[in-house]
Amino acid sequence: MTTTDAFIAAADAHSAHTYHPLPVVVATADGAWMTDVEGRRYLDLLAGYSALNFGHGNRRLIEAAKAQLERVTLTSRAFHHDRFAAFCTELAELCGMEMVLPMNTGTEAVETAVKTVRKWGYRVKGVPAEMAKIVVAGNNFHGRTTTVISFSTDPEARADYGPYTPGFEIVPYGDLTAMRAAVTENTVAVLLEPIQGEAGVLVPPAGYLPAVRALTRERNVLFVADEIQSGLGRTGRTFACEHEGVVPDMYVLGKALGGGIVPVSAVVSSAEVLGVFRPGEHGSTFGGNPLACAVALEVIAMLRSGEYQARAAELGERMRGELKALADTGRLTAVRGRGLWAGVDVAPEYGSGREVSERLMDRGVLVKDTRGPTIRIAPPLVIGEGDLEWGLSQIGEVLTV
Ligand SMILES: *Cc1c(COP(=O)(O)O)cnc(C)c1O
Repeated sequence: MTTTDAFIAAADAHSAHTYHPLPVVVATADGAWMTDVEGRRYLDLLAGYSALNFGHGNRRLIEAAKAQLERVTLTSRAFHHDRFAAFCTELAELCGMEMVLPMNTGTEAVETAVKTVRKWGYRVKGVPAEMAKIVVAGNNFHGRTTTVISFSTDPEARADYGPYTPGFEIVPYGDLTAMRAAVTENTVAVLLEPIQGEAGVLVPPAGYLPAVRALTRERNVLFVADEIQSGLGRTGRTFACEHEGVVPDMYVLGKALGGGIVPVSAVVSSAEVLGVFRPGEHGSTFGGNPLACAVALEVIAMLRSGEYQARAAELGERMRGELKALADTGRLTAVRGRGLWAGVDVAPEYGSGREVSERLMDRGVLVKDTRGPTIRIAPPLVIGEGDLEWGLSQIGEVLTV
């Protein structure tokens, strides 16, 4: 048995089988490259689903984390700490908002958003007790907690986990007529991914997000943008909503906010909305801890320069060009995405998304399939141009019969 096989067998024996990873066992990583336990190198074209926007082992982020490790790492929110105010102030400013509620994982931030908009509905909008409704989109991915999977349309994510949390209305993504019909006087929020990542990097029709913005404003409903995967540079802007000139009432952030080092998530909104909370009404032991704040502050500083967004836009343009060329020769049947983020559908004669991902792995390129023929490509924004070109050329080469 190889070292790789031994690691995988041990993992299979002692971990719940909630994932089906590619058979690679990573030992170290740097920038856009990972090295496995047998010394083979792989180009990472997934970047932890955007959690690694700034690459593996990013020096600025590592230094920020190390410095904070030596100072103080955890206080709990029972006490103040000297990184907290700066984190909240600077994140709010980056978002053009007023207040921040920090959590850890993405799904916790979505849970927090759900609680916030319900409370806002009862306290500010005046929705009758227990009647608040939230409109969401089909094929969404907002995380894995019981409430969040209650409004998933993915049978694998939902089966056997009921009873489900009520209060959600699901409409097809991109369908404005259905959205308009679903919004009632008890609707407190519309919760959407501005680009649906897990669904295969689905970009909604042009004009959809602005129309949802207009509708929600007109009906006194909060527009919540889950930018956990699409935000913080990935699409070539700080937020995917910006491409459509849309400013939501609330951003839900995660993944890249933690710099690939620690889980950091947050809900960011106005004082009217996040001002609904009083002490004791919501919380998290680790949310907003000093280490998380120190890393996130560095992430925010890096995003303020705009250089990562610009790089995502520029490299993304080239990437889409190369992928479109593969579509023109019939090897891909669809190419979607924005910035350095693409979902492509592989023509059936070349095998499933999983098979193509495995063939790419054998050539030293790591991507991840999602739903049948689709593979998702989300390189770290720091990837070298030559590396990206090489990785994309490998995709072309594995798509041969
Ligand atoms: C990843 C993701 C989540 C969940 O984040 P976790 O940190 O895995 O809990 C929620 N929403 C979107 C859009 C995501 O991509």
